[in-house]
Amino acid sequence: MSEQDYSIAVQKGIVLNNKKIAENTFHLKIQSEDFKKMEYIAGFTLDIYLGNPFEQPEIEDRKYSFWDYDPIYNNADIAICTFSKGKGANWIKTIKPGDAIYFKQPKGKLLADNNAENYLLIGDTTSLSHLYEINRNLSISKNIFSFIYVNQSQDIFPDIDLSYPLNFHVINPVSAEIILKKIIEELPDNLDNTIAYIFGEPETCITIHNYLKKDRNFPIQNLRTKPFWKTNK
Ligand SMILES: Cc1cc2nc3c(=O)[nH]c(=O)nc-3n(C[C@H](O)[C@H](O)[C@H](O)COP(=O)(O)OP(=O)(O)OC[C@H]3O[C@@H](n4cnc5c(N)ncnc54)[C@H](O)[C@@H]3O)c2cc1C
Repeated sequence: MSEQDYSIAVQKGIVLNNKKIAENTFHLKIQSEDFKKMEYIAGFTLDIYLGNPFEQPEIEDRKYSFWDYDPIYNNADIAICTFSKGKGANWIKTIKPGDAIYFKQPKGKLLADNNAENYLLIGDTTSLSHLYEINRNLSISKNIFSFIYVNQSQDIFPDIDLSYPLNFHVINPVSAEIILKKIIEELPDNLDNTIAYIFGEPETCITIHNYLKKDRNFPIQNLRTKPFWKTNK
């Protein structure tokens, strides 16, 4: 990519606020004139550089989900978790109002899709903001089953409007088998015309995905499964 293409591809915003909202989560609010270029759909993500890519061309980026977007003021809300103790987790602790923030053109594959009647929203704390955004953008007539697994109650945070529309379960340590067992106990009998969003801890995502596909005959196109990070082997 030429230097000019690169400077067009990199977008910039300003931090309005960065606040710790749960034991392991920060709420980052940013404003950007570059957001005017996107046609936002709930479920978009943003690849944020963990520094200034013009000063440090090798700087890494991390993918974060839009928790909410306000097209009038071009403000985005993002929830960033620190469980990993990785580069992104360390970076978010240093960010303060007024800081410049650099990112790529927002886009997304895990979008709110209103084409089904029933929905399963399953995830962990790291994917909670993405699931909140999907939940708010599904029509009121939809039947929504939710199952959010957390390590401890201190990791729970409310949606952007301070409501708690999803169901939380404290499961410690995280066990894909225990989570699946509890989900099976609570799942509705009728899973016809259902889209499942399954995000978060990799092994749990795969276990639930396989159960719905093999034991409940879910059509593959209705399984929107995404492990949010790679497990170290
Ligand atoms: C579609 C999508 C949307 C995402 N949205 C968000 C979001 O809204 N907010 C957010 O915080 N993250 C989100 N992520 C995850 C994010 O991109 C990073 O992978 C994650 O935050 C870890 O980055 P890091 O630099 O802190 O840790 P890394 O340096 O990448 O990882 C360090 C170590 O921690 C482990 N690890 C990574 N993440 C976790 C975790 N959450 N819990 C436990 N162990 C972990 C890794 O296996 C590795 O061993 C999303 C990922 C995807 C694919």
